[in-house]
Amino acid sequence: MFHVGSARSALHNWAFARQRDGLFVLRIEDTDASRSRPEWIDGIVRAMSWLGMTPQEYEGPVLQSSYAGEQVKAAQRLFDEGHAYYCDCTRASVRRRVGAAYAGYDGFCRERGLTAEHGRALRFRTPDEGVTVVRDLVRGEPMFDNALIEDFVVARGDGSPVFLLANVVDDIRMRITHVIRAEEHLPNTPKQPAERRRTPGCAAGSRCVTAAPSRSTG
Ligand SMILES: [Zn+2]
Repeated sequence: MFHVGSARSALHNWAFARQRDGLFVLRIEDTDASRSRPEWIDGIVRAMSWLGMTPQEYEGPVLQSSYAGEQVKAAQRLFDEGHAYYCDCTRASVRRRVGAAYAGYDGFCRERGLTAEHGRALRFRTPDEGVTVVRDLVRGEPMFDNALIEDFVVARGDGSPVFLLANVVDDIRMRITHVIRAEEHLPNTPKQPAERRRTPGCAAGSRCVTAAPSRSTG
């Protein structure tokens, strides 16, 4: 849904792309079918036009769900290469194991060797050591300890990719160079460069995020 925060992000992206002679891409992140409605897209386009961003001024709307095939392939490849594993834990079972110390997933299924099956989520195997650096044009290069990033879900129990994976695959395919996000997203941002390093088509790791200023997305 389009609200004041979305309008601000859209304007920032649009202005940033124009300033750098780039292209603003309107991408609808609709991988969670239960949380997206086709009629919302018309509302977004209308609201953007009202703000002065007419459809001639950007590319899209591009529906993330249209590229589900590529995202599913990327998930399979992460699994085949050992960078992701299947997990059948529920949040309640993780909480039972770790009790009050709960701070995300505990890695219980890492070495269980589970194969794909309906109801099993696919989790990214975050490196145990080292750091992930985010190139941030506002804050410099904040560093995140990999050991503190949980093994996060990249595909749901029905095989559908979540936005953390879909965004990485689409950013590579669409040659997105800059992502402008609200500051509250900074803590989950390192998950994406960590994933990028393992995703085909992006050998240079997180440098892809801000390499050449030509396209941006919100
Ligand atoms: Zn598990």
